[in-house]
Amino acid sequence: MKSWLEISAQRLTDNYNVLTQIAGNKPAGEGTAVLAVIKANAYGHGAELCAPVLARAGAPWLGVTDTEEALSARTALAAENISPAPQILIMSGILAEDAETIVREQFVPVVWDQRQLEWLAAAATAQGRTASIHIEIDTGMARQGIVPGELPALLQWLRTQPTLRLDGVMTHFASTEVANSPQTLAQRGLFEQAIRTVAASGLHPAWVHAGNSSTVDNQDAEATLPWLRDLVSTLGARSMVRTGLALYGYCLPIEATKPGEASHAAQPSLRPVMTWKTRIIGIRDIHPGDTVGYNAAFTAPRPMRLALLPVGYADGLRRELSGIQSHPGGWAILGDRPAPIAGRVSMNLTLIDITGLENIELGDEATVLGDHITADDHARLAHTIAYEILCGIRATPRLTP
Ligand SMILES: *Cc1c(COP(=O)(O)O)cnc(C)c1O
Repeated sequence: MKSWLEISAQRLTDNYNVLTQIAGNKPAGEGTAVLAVIKANAYGHGAELCAPVLARAGAPWLGVTDTEEALSARTALAAENISPAPQILIMSGILAEDAETIVREQFVPVVWDQRQLEWLAAAATAQGRTASIHIEIDTGMARQGIVPGELPALLQWLRTQPTLRLDGVMTHFASTEVANSPQTLAQRGLFEQAIRTVAASGLHPAWVHAGNSSTVDNQDAEATLPWLRDLVSTLGARSMVRTGLALYGYCLPIEATKPGEASHAAQPSLRPVMTWKTRIIGIRDIHPGDTVGYNAAFTAPRPMRLALLPVGYADGLRRELSGIQSHPGGWAILGDRPAPIAGRVSMNLTLIDITGLENIELGDEATVLGDHITADDHARLAHTIAYEILCGIRATPRLTP
């Protein structure tokens, strides 16, 4: 095994509890429920390992992108006899050929186009079942969802469909990590309008949901969770927020325009769930002036000892973490000691500087991402966000207690 991911069930559970504490800290039934997003292989953590852990932590819903992810989550839950099993929300669109599976498996798709509803209605009729749906309102992402102005006609048509049940209404915000974001306020205004339309239609969705990890973390003056709770109470529905990144222990920085505006409600209590480990496959000493790796991008300034790790950019260790003279890069952790990357990260190999570190042997474990070299560290060096780092890692996940 070249490298592997240790996935902490305890930390995943603890992080879920941190989020439910913040979102749901109200008398029973009044708080906001927390959907656990396990799309993209649980942000690289292994969806089949994480789904049962999150279900046991009490997640009433799991969020995935498509029927394939939904089926593998369902299988993982069934293998552990989890009951009651969370409902599975398919969040990123459906195609005609998905309808049959969705209805048969009773997955709940996010939909917004009448054609999607027609596919589901036809499959439900053929199977003698009903299909539950969540309708997405486009309030400003221009990605998925129906615009509020077109909602009345869709709802009117929906009321004529005995096989379709409107179980939820949702929207997605574009800028939740921005403190007091005018865009979020504008999106909230449009969503309020949509909820009034739903209320007027006589349909009674059980769930209304919006927001993501930053919606829970970003406790600005215009906090969205109390707004959502108030809005939903007018419908007699249950409110919900959909969290992904924070479950796995990370949050985006909150962008503030004024000092003192940014405050993280969740982030200080979250811990990274993933530790990405590998083992040393080579150790060598080099002389001053020797160059290291492709393009001789690093030259030893003094006698050095290097250790070779069997991971590289093919595994998701980003090439921007290369350690070149003018630009120090990433590092690995050996025990509790940092060892800087020396030279360019190769496709499957990376050298680290272990000069002066005692008692290092072939086969020793090294951490390339975890507590002291986080996904945020990788993201900063690679000029991206922790999301992209985490779901770009290719290594086999193992659940640890
Ligand atoms: C991925 C996703 C989320 C979760 O976002 P995080 O920022 O990871 O919490 C929520 N809602 C939808 C629709 C998503 O696609």
